[in-house]
Amino acid sequence: MNATNEQTEVIIVGGGMAGLAAASYLAKAGISVTLFEKSASLGGRAATQDYEGYLFNRGIHAIYTGGATSEVLKDLGVHYSYGIPKETFILRQGQLYPFPANSTSLLSSRLFSLGDKLELARLLSALPRLKAPELAHMSVQEWLERSIRRPLVRQFMASTARVFVYSSALNLVSAEVFLTKFQLILKNPVHYVNGGWQTLIDGLRRVAEQAGARIETGDRVTSVVYEQGSVQGVHLRNGETRSATHVILATSLQDALKLMGENSGLQDIVSPLIPARVACLDVALRRLPDSRHPVVQDLEHPLFLSAQSHYARITPEGGALIHTFKQLDPTRPTDPHQDEHELEDLLDAAQPGWRDLLVKRIFLPHIEAIGMLPTASSNGYAGRPGLTVPGISNLYLAGDWIGAGFLSDPSMSSARAAANLILQK
Ligand SMILES: Cc1cc2nc3c(=O)[nH]c(=O)nc-3n(C[C@H](O)[C@H](O)[C@H](O)COP(=O)(O)OP(=O)(O)OC[C@H]3O[C@@H](n4cnc5c(N)ncnc54)[C@H](O)[C@@H]3O)c2cc1C
Repeated sequence: MNATNEQTEVIIVGGGMAGLAAASYLAKAGISVTLFEKSASLGGRAATQDYEGYLFNRGIHAIYTGGATSEVLKDLGVHYSYGIPKETFILRQGQLYPFPANSTSLLSSRLFSLGDKLELARLLSALPRLKAPELAHMSVQEWLERSIRRPLVRQFMASTARVFVYSSALNLVSAEVFLTKFQLILKNPVHYVNGGWQTLIDGLRRVAEQAGARIETGDRVTSVVYEQGSVQGVHLRNGETRSATHVILATSLQDALKLMGENSGLQDIVSPLIPARVACLDVALRRLPDSRHPVVQDLEHPLFLSAQSHYARITPEGGALIHTFKQLDPTRPTDPHQDEHELEDLLDAAQPGWRDLLVKRIFLPHIEAIGMLPTASSNGYAGRPGLTVPGISNLYLAGDWIGAGFLSDPSMSSARAAANLILQK
């Protein structure tokens, strides 16, 4: 094994949102940083694939503003343009109904009876005042059963919850996740990013490199070197060892476990937690078959569809790109063929004629959308791992499985917090 003389203060493993954000913060503060990404290109799950001008994110992606992702991007000076989705529909027994997004659409809804409307209006007005962390020990299912009497209102809130928490295991997921996200969405718009999420990755890379960070792609880290409880550097697949004063692991939990080995203590802090996977069918079309129904939430099945191209620039002129996803249950086996058919059925119901306009389809049968589902039994976000591993100094963790927040928000907040910890040393 060859040890190189190259010295760097901080090594970051992983070139997704978290790794790039941490590299940007540290490099801007004048710290010498080297980031290693095993793939040939940066982005991880936030990468975008360009197929003849159709920009496919890795499954349906939106920025839920008001959280750490938008805060960190703004803080680092990463700008993007976007569209805001407006018209959502509910699919029930083959019929599409406007989503009751406000009191006017609720009052005029043909989906709900008067009794349903009254209960839903009461619920929606109480929701912003709920103290979500106090309900962390309760599952979404339990909260729905305790808070809602009428079956259709409960079914509607359950289907909304599945979309918000990216999982159909509502009996497992903490109510804190659903309620926090609902409260965030009531106050802050959702952004569909023009150019896809690659725009964010490219922006973060620019900030990091301009500040002096060194980024090496196609370089896999094979293990973290630590002696007597202190991190010394990393081993690379090409046989080199790079030394560093601090190492940030900005990878998935599974990859972090591989890098640290079984006896690191990391296994103990993460073993009770479960990732959330989804099945995604994304279709590029010559045009959108039905522009009246761009976003559709299935009331009866864990399915959702959004023609993001209706709002954001992600296709050639006139083209359409529709993202669909099925929220899977991590406790049950799933059949990818069945999942794909269900997503096709949703497309048939919401966008009939799509098959004749197909340019390209991408099916991701079970991609990890959330590294760690905050469950009721682990007390919601409080049960997630923190930034450090007990017993190992100068090692930091960043990613969507660390600390509070959902989707890319914890990736960004943990990256910022890990960089701050290093800067305070
Ligand atoms: C279908 C889907 C939908 C989503 N929707 C949304 C959404 O609407 N809004 C939202 O905010 N978030 C969403 N997300 C989540 C968001 O994509 C992730 O939270 C975010 O991209 C995670 O970034 P990360 O840097 O923490 O991890 P990753 O993107 O997983 O990056 C980790 C990186 O580490 C690299 N790596 C791993 N091991 C090594 C090694 N040994 N050496 C070198 N490199 C290594 C990997 O190649 C990867 O590039 C969605 C995710 C999916 C899959």
